Amino acid sequence: MDTEKKCVICGREAVFYSEYLKQDLCKKHFERMLIKRVRSNMNSYKIKNQNFKLGSENKCGKEFLKFIVRDMESENGKVLHSYTLEDFAISVMGFFLFHNPSDKKIDDSGKFSPLFNISENEIISFFRLKKVNLKAVKRSKKEEAVLSFLRDIEERRPGGMISLVKAGINLGII
Ligand SMILES: [Zn+2]
Repeated sequence: MDTEKKCVICGREAVFYSEYLKQDLCKKHFERMLIKRVRSNMNSYKIKNQNFKLGSENKCGKEFLKFIVRDMESENGKVLHSYTLEDFAISVMGFFLFHNPSDKKIDDSGKFSPLFNISENEIISFFRLKKVNLKAVKRSKKEEAVLSFLRDIEERRPGGMISLVKAGINLGII
């Protein structure tokens, strides 16, 4: 019996289960889905057709952004921050738990974080499929504690981190 998971779009062998879409995807469609999400984040904030300078806030995020805007990288471009879903989820949680105002905003006086709904797990998988080994980001003890709590929630309720970030956007926290 064929128990191999198949891509919902093309029927080829699936290599990634997207918690975001709740779908199995092959390499090609997983990559497309991820890049499309970043482009659509940029479009919805009307950020396109310009040069970009990439921030080094998050190593995984920066590698992924480099891949997406490599032809538009410039020292005097608009700043794209490399914060990921995890960074924003930690910030929103910090606001709820410790009443810490967030030190990062998605759209911050001309600077923009296009990866706010892209997880490090997705980015690492993206590069692993290209045979590039990317390591997870190292964080402070406090941040790691919040993140492990968030990953627990995510395991029980896939998409929980994205919902939290969306709530943070709606409440103006990030
Ligand atoms: Zn496919």
